[in-house]
Amino acid sequence: MEEIPQLFGTSGIRGRLGEKINPELALKVGLAVGTVAGEGKIVVGHDPRTSSPMLSLAVKAGILQCGKDVLDLGMVPTPVVGYATQYLGAQAGVMITASHNPSPYNGIKLWNPNGMAYKQEQERVIERIIHHESFKRVSWDLIGKSKDINNFISIYVENLLDLVKIKPGLKVVVDCGSGAASYLSPLIIRKSGCEVLTLNSQPDGFFPGRDPEPSQKNLGELMRVVKATGADLGLAHDGDADRMVAVDDKGRMADFDKLLALVSAQRGGTVVTTVDASAAIDHSLKEVQGKVDRTKVGDVHVATRISQLKANFGGEPSGTWIHPEFCMCPDGILSGLRVIELVQENGPLSQLLDELPTYPTRRVTVNCQDEDKKSIMQEMEKKLPQLFSDIKDVNPIDGVRLTLNDDSWVLVRPSGTESFIRITLEGKNEKRAREIHEKSKKLLEGTIKSFEG
Ligand code: MG
Repeated sequence: MEEIPQLFGTSGIRGRLGEKINPELALKVGLAVGTVAGEGKIVVGHDPRTSSPMLSLAVKAGILQCGKDVLDLGMVPTPVVGYATQYLGAQAGVMITASHNPSPYNGIKLWNPNGMAYKQEQERVIERIIHHESFKRVSWDLIGKSKDINNFISIYVENLLDLVKIKPGLKVVVDCGSGAASYLSPLIIRKSGCEVLTLNSQPDGFFPGRDPEPSQKNLGELMRVVKATGADLGLAHDGDADRMVAVDDKGRMADFDKLLALVSAQRGGTVVTTVDASAAIDHSLKEVQGKVDRTKVGDVHVATRISQLKANFGGEPSGTWIHPEFCMCPDGILSGLRVIELVQENGPLSQLLDELPTYPTRRVTVNCQDEDKKSIMQEMEKKLPQLFSDIKDVNPIDGVRLTLNDDSWVLVRPSGTESFIRITLEGKNEKRAREIHEKSKKLLEGTIKSFEG
């Protein structure tokens, strides 16, 4: 079979401007989307990066050239593109963003009519059309029309607020990192009834206040301001606000897994998460008679599984959460509102987090040749369960994950982008973590060696 260059990575097309991504490619993506989309309109939005309006124009030109109409949202967070695509019955959504990457980067992510991200098979189709330049262009009299729909934001705001029950009283500090949610997230949280203080909430593609990745290292100011102002909560987004992370009332960054566990229990029922998420979720859901389903790492896999199981909620520990009652596109603003509800109903976030068990954890990487990964993983799938006598569950959906009777677990999973295999685990206690770590690492190193020899 013919080798077609892969453009899409784990989260759309992504790269430095002028290297992997440029207006020429954006035009081709627009042409390809216009070629595959059914009769109707295509929603386009972009983040505040300096290169985003330029790339958006190129994408739009491609779509119009295929005779499809464009509904242009302008500068908006990713979840607004997902929601508008679904709400307006569009044939596709296109978001220009590099999410949490630094200023020189940009990217393109595609959305389905139901608000779910494009799956890998759909991305391969786009790549094939671009490679063969098999675009369906139309003649001059059939060119599409572009319409500015920035006023759609008011529908998004209204429908989002209709979903949540928040009483006035909480004080929340919101740090948008000068990303796409800069005006919108503080506005919505204020409208929900909270007192809002803002940090980095003017959109700016140079990200002058902090890096768009909402990591512990980048949120020092938010943590200090929450503490200094006696706020109940701090919320921060990544550059395109499909993600949200929280800071508790003591000014500590909330553990990603524990925060996901708390909101999962609040949603109840069946919750979907990824194979690398903590047993804290199982612990929290057990208390409300809920069920955890684990799928492949990546928000599109979580969304797919949610729709298969008709689950109530799902998310990755990174803070990418999907709320199917609203849309299948991860929504960091709604995630923030759900955390506000949690705090309002159940008390200070610091207390809720401290009440959850902390499981000793380990993450180890062992180098291995890319070409051996598949065979090594086949061996690991066979041999890993033989190491333990108390296995509750074996999940081979993404690497191999064993859950043991005491809820300790271990995951062996190859990196998709680098030459190593990673072991991730949690033990019920320190001794158990050490034991699982030593046994699994020895097995993995031995197996890799046998292939090298
Ligand atoms: Mg993002």
